[in-house]
Amino acid sequence: MTDPLVIIGTGLGGYNVAREFRKLDTDTPVTLITADDGRSYSKPMLSAAFEKRKDASSLAMATPEGMATQLNAGVRTHTEVTALDPAGRRVLIGDEAVPYSGLVLAWGAQVLRAPLGGDAADTVLSVNDLEDYGLFRERLQGKRRVLIMGTGLIGCEFASDLTHAGFEVTLVAPDQHLLQLLVPETAGRLLQKALQAEGVKIHLGPLVQGVDRAADGSLLVQLDNDTQLETDLVVSAIGLRPRIALAEAAGLRTGRGILTDQALQTSEEHIYAMGDCAEVCGHSLQYILPLMAAARALAKTLAGTPTAVHYPAMPVTVKTPACPVVSMPAPRGVEGEWMIEHARTDLRGEFRDDEGVLRGFVLCGERTKERFALAKEVPDLLPAT
Ligand code: FAD
Repeated sequence: MTDPLVIIGTGLGGYNVAREFRKLDTDTPVTLITADDGRSYSKPMLSAAFEKRKDASSLAMATPEGMATQLNAGVRTHTEVTALDPAGRRVLIGDEAVPYSGLVLAWGAQVLRAPLGGDAADTVLSVNDLEDYGLFRERLQGKRRVLIMGTGLIGCEFASDLTHAGFEVTLVAPDQHLLQLLVPETAGRLLQKALQAEGVKIHLGPLVQGVDRAADGSLLVQLDNDTQLETDLVVSAIGLRPRIALAEAAGLRTGRGILTDQALQTSEEHIYAMGDCAEVCGHSLQYILPLMAAARALAKTLAGTPTAVHYPAMPVTVKTPACPVVSMPAPRGVEGEWMIEHARTDLRGEFRDDEGVLRGFVLCGERTKERFALAKEVPDLLPAT
């Protein structure tokens, strides 16, 4: 019997590759392996679900059994792959070896953890999957105040969502402005004003050093500028790092993520990587649109037609209704200049390189409507071949 196509991970990456593959090949056995409970869900909903009063089970779109039937595949849940053996074409789960004909690494990114002092540092939560979200909701039962570390997309979205759901939110980051890795300062300031007008308290500049428990059960958060803030729960949203350790240990080439060529193949034959763990021709993009493009291209390759992924300009939307933001950052290393037009609540910023070519942009408020027209003008990140 043919060894199965093995996919590690049942996030949007893993399940979408399997779904696209099944459109092209109904026969090859497919096994998905996941460390979590295997429920299918849309991760971007995690930071927009409090206001909609959705708990973890109502965000789940299908059980692992339902997915197994839909995909005509095996789905192994709560199973952590512990090593790869490219020479033997096997993955290892402790002592058990699972052979594969092709292997897809779709095992995502892990949350960064700040080294924190204090006797309540272990209560700090991160929300990077459905199970984390379930715990987050549980811990917030009967609570009023949340402090969020990190002012990137995830921190700002949680701040907006929790505020709309009636919580008192404080954002803290050592950055100069909100969304520092995604937008220029003027856009970050516009979002800051909009969130502050909704009641979010924002501390930019200091680092969180420690979290202690007060006598009344609340938490005391120590900042490195001698400030102490009181809250009921601390959430860390300081960033994600592609999971590369097992790949590196097996000799695959890695950089920021697991390095692949434009066909998503790693430095090992028969092993592919996609989604948050992959760095595709130098692009490490932890968003949905690149992942969907990768799933479609990789499915064709796995079904026998080698196919390069096409990355057009793929802007990302920040779900902060008080000041919606669309950002298309220029690729790393591109030199150029921002040109920004803005009014009280709206903004359009264009990032043009030294030849005057539009390489990135940011839109806020009403001007987010211009995203499709602008995206068309930006050259493809990875052209169709
Ligand atoms: P994941 O969903 O992380 O899946 C990884 C899978 O691998 C899991 O099943 C895990 O259990 C499994 N796994 C890991 N290690 C092992 C192992 N050793 N053995 C077995 N299984 C393993 N992007 C957007 O474009 N727009 C948005 O609005 C947006 N909002 C977001 C909001 C939040 C709160 C977060 C956290 C992210 C958001 N993103 C957004 C990013 C987007 O959701 C991710 O890029 C995408 O979901 C990543 O999918 P993935 O399948 O690569 O990884």
